[in-house]
Amino acid sequence: MRYRSQRIAQIPPYMFAEFKKKKEKMQQEGVDVIDLGIGDPDLPTPRHIVEKLIDEMAYPENFKYPSFNGCSEFRQAVADFYKRQFDVDLDPDTEVLMLIGSKEGLAHLVPTVIDPGEIVLAPDPGYPPYRMAISLAGGRLYKMPLLEENNFEPQLQEIPLEIASQAKLLLLNYPGNPTSATVEKAFFDEAVSFAKQHEIVIAHDAAYNMVTFGEYKAPSILQAEGAKEAAVEFGSLSKTYSMTGWRIGYAVGNKEVIKALSIYKSNTDTGQFTPIQKAAAYALMGNQDCVQASNAVYEERMQAMVAALRSIGIKAKAARGTFFVWASVPEGYTSAAFADSVLEKTGVIVTPGTAFGESGEGYFRISLSVPTDRLKEAIHRMKKELVINKNREEKSI
Ligand SMILES: *Cc1c(COP(=O)(O)O)cnc(C)c1O
Repeated sequence: MRYRSQRIAQIPPYMFAEFKKKKEKMQQEGVDVIDLGIGDPDLPTPRHIVEKLIDEMAYPENFKYPSFNGCSEFRQAVADFYKRQFDVDLDPDTEVLMLIGSKEGLAHLVPTVIDPGEIVLAPDPGYPPYRMAISLAGGRLYKMPLLEENNFEPQLQEIPLEIASQAKLLLLNYPGNPTSATVEKAFFDEAVSFAKQHEIVIAHDAAYNMVTFGEYKAPSILQAEGAKEAAVEFGSLSKTYSMTGWRIGYAVGNKEVIKALSIYKSNTDTGQFTPIQKAAAYALMGNQDCVQASNAVYEERMQAMVAALRSIGIKAKAARGTFFVWASVPEGYTSAAFADSVLEKTGVIVTPGTAFGESGEGYFRISLSVPTDRLKEAIHRMKKELVINKNREEKSI
């Protein structure tokens, strides 16, 4: 008997599985392992959002099947958020769709837009579910290398014409995971004009749109001229409000794509629990001091980690958004060998850049979504055990 389709059989083992095995083994040996691998906020969901969820639990009508596209309060709250944050007008009925987290929406978007054999342009390195969704949909992945010298932006004009003219879908993600790169609106103007020229749908993953520091404000792709003709943007409550386990996000933008995705989804899932939607609406509409507060925590951790890495001779830059540090592997190591060596010497898990695609070679990712005292302990161990080359510090500053 065959238990797996070809589609499932070709999926490589979960990238964190190998580390999990090593982590468990080291823990059994008594090592206090610090996991800077997975990006999942350690900070709690702000209390007022939790209270709203509890309040909404009092109404039995909230226990029924939710509406497919999301309750009106949630869709209106997303539209209001876009107006307030980006000065973008959205029709909550046709241009906003509720998702069970943006990962769900992105994964279902791919077979919504492409047929088997069609080309999807995706960033490399990039969030692994993009590649998996393309593979599951039978699509052809065209990797756009994100290089440091280009601010980790894909060089759209360098994509061969025969690829661009056949491509159906373009995936982008800023502020980016894993690179932590941020862009200005001009980049989205260029991307939208490229997509319109070649009749490509753009999906912009904006999971970190509100996790930004200092004066920097992440733009929305929908601010670009004519964006609604070509683009949809995926947002999430997960990172902004430390709500990863709640599973709620949204897609906004092009009506045709939103409609098509809602057809796919209405035949696959039945939305999200209504009290969660209402609490999420409340999060988007309520006092945003909690966002500033969590961003201040991430920014401080970012500064501390980058300073520590530099002090031991590792090239790293503090980003304007996300809770990731994307740093260069020291000379003489591959990404995988370096991550292994860090784990062995310090008991700290970092993710090799290659877990996000071949162009991640030469880098590793540190997630700052762990309690500050654990991060300090990790820094302490790295400073003690990992002095790469003291002379390089001067050069890298
Ligand atoms: C965390 C993350 C998401 C997933 O968000 P959910 O809304 O929790 O599904 C999407 N994209 C990127 C790049 C992420 O890092």
